[in-house]
Amino acid sequence: MTDYRRLRVALLGAGSVGSQVASLLRQHGDELADRAGATLELVGIAVRDVDAPRDVDLPRELLTTDAETLIVGADIVIELMGGIEPAREYLLQAINSGADVVTANKALLATHGPEIFDAADQVGAQVYYEAAAAGAIPIIRPLRDSLAGDRVQRIMGIVNGTTNYILDRMDKEGAEFGDVLADAQALGYAEADPTADIEGYDAAQKAAILASLAFHTAVPLDAVHREGITRIDASMMDAARKAGYVIKLLAVCERMVADGDETISVRVYPALVSREHPLASVHGANNAVFVEAEAAGPLMFYGAGAGGVQTASAVLGDVVSAARRHIAGGVGVGESTRANLPIVPIGHVTTRYQITLEVNDQPGVLATIAGILSDGNVSIATVEQTVIGDDIEGAGTARLVIGTHKAREQDLSDTVDTLAQSGVVEKVASVLRVEGD
Ligand code: NAP
Repeated sequence: MTDYRRLRVALLGAGSVGSQVASLLRQHGDELADRAGATLELVGIAVRDVDAPRDVDLPRELLTTDAETLIVGADIVIELMGGIEPAREYLLQAINSGADVVTANKALLATHGPEIFDAADQVGAQVYYEAAAAGAIPIIRPLRDSLAGDRVQRIMGIVNGTTNYILDRMDKEGAEFGDVLADAQALGYAEADPTADIEGYDAAQKAAILASLAFHTAVPLDAVHREGITRIDASMMDAARKAGYVIKLLAVCERMVADGDETISVRVYPALVSREHPLASVHGANNAVFVEAEAAGPLMFYGAGAGGVQTASAVLGDVVSAARRHIAGGVGVGESTRANLPIVPIGHVTTRYQITLEVNDQPGVLATIAGILSDGNVSIATVEQTVIGDDIEGAGTARLVIGTHKAREQDLSDTVDTLAQSGVVEKVASVLRVEGD
């Protein structure tokens, strides 16, 4: 066996991901040493409770509740605790004591990324976070390294497995949101408190990370427009299917020109995606990130966006990279944020829309609606009308599904308000953006 230099690896957290990282590090230690050019010595694992049951058997003597002492003297610190504090404090301590750090903590990077990257820059350390945006799917390195010579135009990501699982089952079974959510919770696809997933918070954190890398611009979490999937119901799914679409929760990061200036938009919302689009074929809890780059064209990265052992794969890749860098020496490569593009609010974004209205089925109604849309700078691409019922007096209700050409979000939302108050519209059943064409 080659006599490699020993690198001290400290692991913070032994939950779903951390326990798998510890297990694989120990199981494949020799192989990883050959790849890294260094022996990766797991010197300890910080947890809250050393006696808590674990997914895998870990030597009792490695477990400690004293994370701070563990960090001192470590060459590589892997943070898999999650949350903001004390994870932030421990990462800063690790960086300042000369370690390279690996983390999968999207919540921390989306809120305190610049502080952590700056601290690493100051001392020449490197922060690795391949698992923070899409679990096992390699997307951080492709954006940071492989596409560094290209110009990314747009990213559309299905980056939350729970919501994709729910929407996929609603699409396939015609089921209602609440029923599928309850089932997903029973099966372990959704947390007891599903807010972070179904309200789009988790996807927004990932969108901030992806957009920062893609556009070389620090993207704060509060600049990400966020909507969840709780308003999606079986009738919207059904209408989408009949029109050749599927509804997906998308993280969209887009380079745009607004008032002659190059800008970016970062947003998370449920959107209609053509069934012909590669993202429509992402089923169950899988994730995919669809990247459109100026020279490379479209690229799609697909796979498991979560899961303990799957995510551990990405974390271990980072550990090997950190070890190689540590052996080679030199300063870390900082984050590229110098493009510093302005981030536009949602009102400036232009997309296509599908508006579903319930209207009085009377002569002249269509002309009135067309007039309101035209006055609001919203141009109609398609209209489909279905009679959905008569009341006792024989007055009918019709459902109008209006597809628009690209319109500015602010114009569209003002126009929908005008429609709602127009007297001819009984109900605005849904307004959905159309993405991916
Ligand atoms: P988890 O199962 O909740 O495990 C968290 C671990 O951290 C536990 O071992 C816990 O100790 C320990 N811990 C928490 N607070 C601590 C503290 N103050 N001091 C010491 N130890 C502490 O979390 P996870 O699912 O493995 O996720 C870890 C990270 O990976 C998160 O940032 C998450 O967002 C990210 N991630 C997870 C997945 C996934 O599929 N799970 C996918 C991608 C990214 P005890 O065991 O003693 O309670």
